[in-house]
Amino acid sequence: MLSLEGVSLAYGSFRALDGIGLHAAAGELVVLLGANGAGKSSIFLTASGLHKPASGSIRLDGEEIAGTRPAQIVARGLVQCPEGRKLFPQMTVLKNLMLGAYVHRRDGAGNRSRLEEVLALFPILAQKKNDPAGSLSGGQQQMVAIGRALMGRPRVLLLDEPSLGLAPLVVKQVFDVIHRINAAGTTVLLAEQNAHAALKIAHRAYVIERGRIVLEGTPETLMNNDAVRKAYIGA
Ligand code: ATP
Repeated sequence: MLSLEGVSLAYGSFRALDGIGLHAAAGELVVLLGANGAGKSSIFLTASGLHKPASGSIRLDGEEIAGTRPAQIVARGLVQCPEGRKLFPQMTVLKNLMLGAYVHRRDGAGNRSRLEEVLALFPILAQKKNDPAGSLSGGQQQMVAIGRALMGRPRVLLLDEPSLGLAPLVVKQVFDVIHRINAAGTTVLLAEQNAHAALKIAHRAYVIERGRIVLEGTPETLMNNDAVRKAYIGA
């Protein structure tokens, strides 16, 4: 469904991605593991059209999307939930959610029913829909960020470190929600440093180091890999 082949990206003279090849088939939940600065966000920003790759191919349903404008990429079903949530704190929860539906703004009925689905997935957001997003707890704000991405009607959802900075109980809730979104049919690419929790819900995973894929496998394979355990699981 989504595939990257030989994708390289440079920030000035710094090569952040070096020949990245990865794919996510329809319905898969694929995890990208990597330390700070490994290149996970760069992969997502490039796939979303926010950075232009120096080389390589990015295909969505077999069609090239590298070089396509970000809004068109969203309209075609690839939606990103960015690292750090990037909400508008003074705006209400509802307005933040509706911003995710911008590319579908002419489909009011579709957006209303989508909003109902999102609020059913996150009942707390229904209660807080008229509150400023910035007044919510960190976990609730992460729910708004995921909800906003869902309002874009993704077929492929890119989630960049959704558990960052959250308390363990809240992390569990976030991963439960991601699992449910995937089980309902959305293909998910999840960038995480919380390897243990991410591998529990993943179908497959890649390990990224300094802009390169260094390992790919099933969660079991990676959990049993000594280097992975040492670097990402702490055992
Ligand atoms: P993190 O979890 O810290 O976001 P990451 O795996 O997502 O890590 P990236 O954000 O993709 O990593 O960064 C990859 C490398 O590119 C890092 O060395 C980072 O410092 C560098 N980098 C990222 N964005 C820029 C930029 N706009 N200009 C210059 N260098 C950048």
